[in-house]
Amino acid sequence: MTTPRTTARQKPMATGAPTIVWLRQELRLDDHPALLAAAERGPVVPVYIWSPEEDAPWSPGGASRWWLHHSLAWLRERLTAVGSRLTLRVGRSVDELLAVAAECGADTIVATRRYEPFVHDASRVAELAQHGVRLEIVEGSLLMQPELLRTGSDRPYQVYTPFARTLRSMEPPPRPRIAPALTPPPIWPRSIPLETLRLLPTIEWAGEFNEHWSPGGEGAAEKLRRFLTGPVDCYERDRDVPSTDGTSGLSAHLHFGEISPRRVWYAVGDAIKRRDDATFMKAAEKFRAEVLWREFGHHILVHFPRTDLEPLRSEFARFPWDDNREALLAWQQGRTGYPLVDAGMRQLWRTGWMHNRVRMVVASFLVKHLLLPWQAGARWFWDTLVDADLANNSLGWQWSAGCGADAAPYFRIFNPVLQGEKFDPEGTYVRRFVPELARIPAKFLHRPWDAPAAVLAAGGVTLGIDYPHPIVEHGLARARALAALSKVSAARAEASDA
Ligand code: FAD
Repeated sequence: MTTPRTTARQKPMATGAPTIVWLRQELRLDDHPALLAAAERGPVVPVYIWSPEEDAPWSPGGASRWWLHHSLAWLRERLTAVGSRLTLRVGRSVDELLAVAAECGADTIVATRRYEPFVHDASRVAELAQHGVRLEIVEGSLLMQPELLRTGSDRPYQVYTPFARTLRSMEPPPRPRIAPALTPPPIWPRSIPLETLRLLPTIEWAGEFNEHWSPGGEGAAEKLRRFLTGPVDCYERDRDVPSTDGTSGLSAHLHFGEISPRRVWYAVGDAIKRRDDATFMKAAEKFRAEVLWREFGHHILVHFPRTDLEPLRSEFARFPWDDNREALLAWQQGRTGYPLVDAGMRQLWRTGWMHNRVRMVVASFLVKHLLLPWQAGARWFWDTLVDADLANNSLGWQWSAGCGADAAPYFRIFNPVLQGEKFDPEGTYVRRFVPELARIPAKFLHRPWDAPAAVLAAGGVTLGIDYPHPIVEHGLARARALAALSKVSAARAEASDA
């Protein structure tokens, strides 16, 4: 396996004009096109500017801020170790870039492209140019530039399978490159302490995050190494089993650009070559297919930039959503009375992450059982996920609500009991996150309301006191969701229970 290397070496002080590397969501040194481009020209000034209001309406949520703090701390340490520095600033990004440029005598800035609709780089390029400063935007966060993928009829893809097939048939992305040597500038710009950004929560709710995550490039490399030397073999099976550590856990590292998707892609490819084993190749390719869902999510967001807030399928704009704040709160707090849903929501709150299978179940529950708008779920995920990513989150929520690209049909309504019995048959996952049900036997764990009174008593559970009764009955909720769907005129469906 090729592991990410951050082996930047120190170069002697140079006298040429430095180039600013404006770091945004690519907090690494390895395989970093913007950093490589700047390093080839001479001295480099790496800068991070905290300007959350510029990301409105999606300024980073609490869990993302926690991650960002630690990621910046790691980056600052790495840069110092290789004789460079991380310049931190707060404020309007163009103003800060101009100030930094003036302080260190730079006239060129390189940044990696961001794909969110609220990122208006063209106007920044124009404004900086008025002051004689050039801003260059380079690709670097995806395997393939989204604009390069078009259907036969020259349209953006809206279905994953042909999208992924086309991507795989194209010239492969260039192999990842190691970190360049970074030449320091003659004069460093002023920097503020990381603590000034106030990214960590003031109320200690993220305590358990430290047990699960190591933000930064080394943490990312370790996650990839662990995955490729173990879990990948059983990925096809375990990726659906929430009680196992069967997935890579790379999503937040990828979102913050602590590891490049090319590094991941080629590490998997190298492992396939080394193992030369058809079963391994199938599992590893399944994993690569998931990495391509990330590409697909970004492709959709670039071509349909309103899908963070509006359904891709416009007929869903007429969907008769409910507005039940109590139900929303019960869902957020993991008190719906459906153990798998509650375990997922509590995993999210405690660890800042939720298993993909359970994300699908809780999302379906919100939009179909509770008839609450998918945007409310996306917003809650945004605030609580350490891997909150506008492209992937919008794709996941629209998929779950049946209104997005290549979405699950709205009429396929996940039954949280059947999902629990299938993917958490022993209840290991539910017992971990819903400890009040820990002593209920597996047979009744996913439907405690069916358990005889003696079984509940032996398990120390009184429904309605220790654990809630279901807030909606599955059969009724399903019928209500299908009736609501029938109001969406263009939607045609045939009911089925998954
Ligand atoms: P692995 O199984 O190891 O997959 C490897 C990588 O592939 C992931 O790190 C991720 O970058 C990508 N990937 C995997 N599955 C998907 C997918 N379905 N869509 C897009 N990319 C995928 N993912 C996020 O990164 N950020 C989000 O905000 C997010 N919100 C979601 C909301 C909903 C309602 C749903 C159903 C899914 C969401 N996902 C999101 C996708 C997926 O759940 C996570 O990427 C995955 O669980 C991360 O765990 P992992 O890194 O161990 O994944």
